[in-house]
Amino acid sequence: MSLKSLQVIFFNEEKCINFLLEKEILKDKQSCEICNSEITRYINYYKCKNRECNKTESVFKNTIFSNSNIKCNDILLIGYFWLYKLSYILINMMTTFSSVTIIKFTNIFRDLAISKLTSEDHIIGGKNIICKIDESKFKKYEDFWVVGGTERTKEKKCFFVITENREAPTLRRIIKQHSKSFKNRIQQGTGVHTNSVEGLWNGVKLNISTRNCSKQLLEKHLYEFIWRRKNRNNLFEAFINLLK
Ligand SMILES: [Zn+2]
Repeated sequence: MSLKSLQVIFFNEEKCINFLLEKEILKDKQSCEICNSEITRYINYYKCKNRECNKTESVFKNTIFSNSNIKCNDILLIGYFWLYKLSYILINMMTTFSSVTIIKFTNIFRDLAISKLTSEDHIIGGKNIICKIDESKFKKYEDFWVVGGTERTKEKKCFFVITENREAPTLRRIIKQHSKSFKNRIQQGTGVHTNSVEGLWNGVKLNISTRNCSKQLLEKHLYEFIWRRKNRNNLFEAFINLLK
């Protein structure tokens, strides 16, 4: 989805709210919670038509857009830039929002993306699927290794585990936990290979800025990478689903 095709929702709060209602990210309420009377929506809040009740309620209640100092269309724009991997510095330059605000929302989007992953998304392999598994060090993380694996399939499913050592029992345990049919294949002498996974590491390291990044945040970035890879053919749609 191009920025041009989405400009209306990014630069107009009212149209953005309509878009969010249409996508069922915001609830389109018809009646008052208190008195059950009809309610009217005034752009960003609902108001009960019953004069004795008069209850008002934000359309953003119980969503990531509530209690924010920036508008919903601005939050969506930050999300769009995050989706297309703009750096914090670039997002800051383009939107003039503070890095605190930008980091707050990109963290929310990342956590939502990770919450959408199932245990199956962290497992590779299966019948007749060749996998490659390898370990790598990340800059600034001298204390541990990242073990990663990927399939030789169209989906290119992958997994990552941060580990303190790369001794054989540790690697065996990780491979067993994150790949299907591992045992059989080793016995047959085919299947799981431990040769280099250069492509995967290049992709991951290009996407992850390890500056000021804790071990926990590195893990989140690795899982975000899995979510991005899983949804690479419909990234914007997947992003919209995160907000629901
Ligand atoms: Zn009411």
